[in-house]
Amino acid sequence: MNVGVIAVQGDVSEHADAIRRAAATHGVDASVTEVRDAGIVPDCDVLLMPGGESTTISRLLREEGIDGEIRAHVAAGKPLLATCAGLIVAARDAKDDRVATLDVLDVSVDRNAFGRQADSFEAPLDVEGLDEPFPAVFIRAPVIDEVGEGVAVLAEWDGDPVAVKQGPVIATSFHPELTADSRIHDLAFFGQDHADPDAGDGEEARA
Ligand code: GLN
Repeated sequence: MNVGVIAVQGDVSEHADAIRRAAATHGVDASVTEVRDAGIVPDCDVLLMPGGESTTISRLLREEGIDGEIRAHVAAGKPLLATCAGLIVAARDAKDDRVATLDVLDVSVDRNAFGRQADSFEAPLDVEGLDEPFPAVFIRAPVIDEVGEGVAVLAEWDGDPVAVKQGPVIATSFHPELTADSRIHDLAFFGQDHADPDAGDGEEARA
């Protein structure tokens, strides 16, 4: 399985480890490529867009011409896991002119909303599709404040969505790579049927 981790800025190596662990439990060999240039994403089966600084990530994606490749990846029904700043970049609207969002996920986000309350915290989170709570680490995390019709909410914290799914895209406000628990990566890349939640039993597009 060819895995691309967007690496223009932000945390990369922990995600690569988590993907390899999740893949290993399925007997799959994951070949992870760090994406800093155009031309790599089209060969990736699955993509991950990590946390970092959404202003910087979105600017570099556009400068390098990777933004359109990510849109095409999602349009082709291939999995994307977007975490924290990655969620902000994937969103329809970040309500911040400095972030050129990709609009591959029909949500609007409030950047740093959790950050105003507490810079960083960890909480056990009930996530749809997981049997046991997930140890979720929030770091200056965005809040999802508007969710479009085709978006399923997988987890909430304090009444706000913090994990969502739309077709092949799963996005989290928190950092699933910062614990030894790779169940979110598993869910994003191996556990979903990538059917549109509103489209009944859509086509299987498993990586
Ligand atoms: N607050 C950051 C932003 O707006 C995201 C923080 C993170 O990815 N840990 O881009």
